[in-house]
Amino acid sequence: MGHGPCDKCEELLHGYLDRELSEVEHAEAEAHLDTCDYCRRRYRFESQLRKYIRLSAEERMPPGLLDKLAQLRTDPGQGGQASA
Ligand SMILES: [Zn+2]
Repeated sequence: MGHGPCDKCEELLHGYLDRELSEVEHAEAEAHLDTCDYCRRRYRFESQLRKYIRLSAEERMPPGLLDKLAQLRTDPGQGGQASA
């Protein structure tokens, strides 16, 4: 539970998204995204998220939306378990 199939490439992905990677690491990340469906989906999700965050930082989104995004971030893969 709470373990993605690709836990260790998460680090790489974050660097990739933040553009903090060296050229070699960047190429590595891209090659990985090419072959790893899980990371590709995560990368899309995260990059979308970042876009929204950037936009909303400029436009001041309602605080509730931030919470939602934070929730999405902290559990990307679990559907279920609503606290009733
Ligand atoms: Zn992966």
